[in-house]
Amino acid sequence: MASSCKKRRFRDPQSVERSIDNVRNAIPQTTRYKNRWGVRIFEDWQSGRENKAVMCESNPFSLDLQNLQNLETELCSMTARTLNFWLIKFVQETFRRVLDSEMKATHREGESLAENRTRREKEAITDDEEGLLWSKGLLGDKTAQSLVYTIYFYIGKIFGLRACEHRQLRLSNFVIENNKICYRENISKTFHGGLKDLKKKPRIVTHYCHEDEESVHEPCLVQMFKQYISLVSELPKINESFYFRPSKTAYKFENAPIGIHKLNSIVPFLMKEAGLEIKTAHCLRVTTATNLFRAGHQEKLIRERTGHVSSALFTYEKPSNDQAMAVSKCVGPSVSKIVSLVDNCFKPPSKPKEDEKFQISDEELDKFLSEVDWSKIDKEVQRRTIAEKFVLSNSTSTNCSFNISFAGNK
Ligand SMILES: [Zn+2]
Repeated sequence: MASSCKKRRFRDPQSVERSIDNVRNAIPQTTRYKNRWGVRIFEDWQSGRENKAVMCESNPFSLDLQNLQNLETELCSMTARTLNFWLIKFVQETFRRVLDSEMKATHREGESLAENRTRREKEAITDDEEGLLWSKGLLGDKTAQSLVYTIYFYIGKIFGLRACEHRQLRLSNFVIENNKICYRENISKTFHGGLKDLKKKPRIVTHYCHEDEESVHEPCLVQMFKQYISLVSELPKINESFYFRPSKTAYKFENAPIGIHKLNSIVPFLMKEAGLEIKTAHCLRVTTATNLFRAGHQEKLIRERTGHVSSALFTYEKPSNDQAMAVSKCVGPSVSKIVSLVDNCFKPPSKPKEDEKFQISDEELDKFLSEVDWSKIDKEVQRRTIAEKFVLSNSTSTNCSFNISFAGNK
């Protein structure tokens, strides 16, 4: 019926299996994983708990216990009220009390969960490291491989893509103009293009490579993007990927999309080849956010670049060494004031410089010698100092001139 009509109002009906698949796939993988984990923990607790009779339970919220099912009931057969009741017990017993007391106990023993987390913080790739990648020819357009690595590196760094988003990229995500590269996301962690995202706008980021009139500069990302796209745009599988395997023998790309694992290994590979500390694909996104924070850009602009919706963005707000130094200077001892106070109070023989001569009385000499940490001074100097002290104290003159070499801290 439908095939004879030129314009059809509806698509062919979907099979039940396909609908079920679509619904299942609409739930992000990590959410599914976490739900499964939660259900498993609940069922463990359920089977191990001694009392399963609801009527024997304490009832702090004055619920009508008679209408609730016992704990033997399977999770999927529980009514909402029953589930609600047992979930409260579950959370109280498993998480709050047990976890809390365990954490306190380990903390008292000097261990902290926070310190023990093995997960390492992702670090930004520094300018020096990036420069080294260029100077070693790992980035650049000399070979097909370095070209595709450079495109990957800068898509990650200038648009702050998540590692998993690279594989979803297509040619249509980019528009290359004279002096700029525009990126328009189709799906990401925070934009799935579904019903709930109807009011959200997909992220569009424009990166200006150079001023309009300035066209020749090195390295020019616009030129490199144009070059890469001209080499891959005719490949038959161009609708399946954005990154293609570089040919080992010629300056061209094979009709084989680069898989997600290979993409994820590009940054570790580059760092390793350059002899640097290994960093992961996610470090490019960290670099975007960290560099923008350090340069003092507005939060709104940083969010536009990276697409961060949550406050996770602020984990990348790490100060540079210079910034940390400036902050420390602000709150540390006010050196200029203290120096002027010291100058006004007394004239120091406090820090004798080498070969400096100054007047010293017997009392001062005794005091000075009693404060010396002899363990840090070598034997010859000890012997000489004691001999000179002996001569001094036997001399009749006080306030004589005495030459002390400063031998401490050796
Ligand atoms: Zn440019």
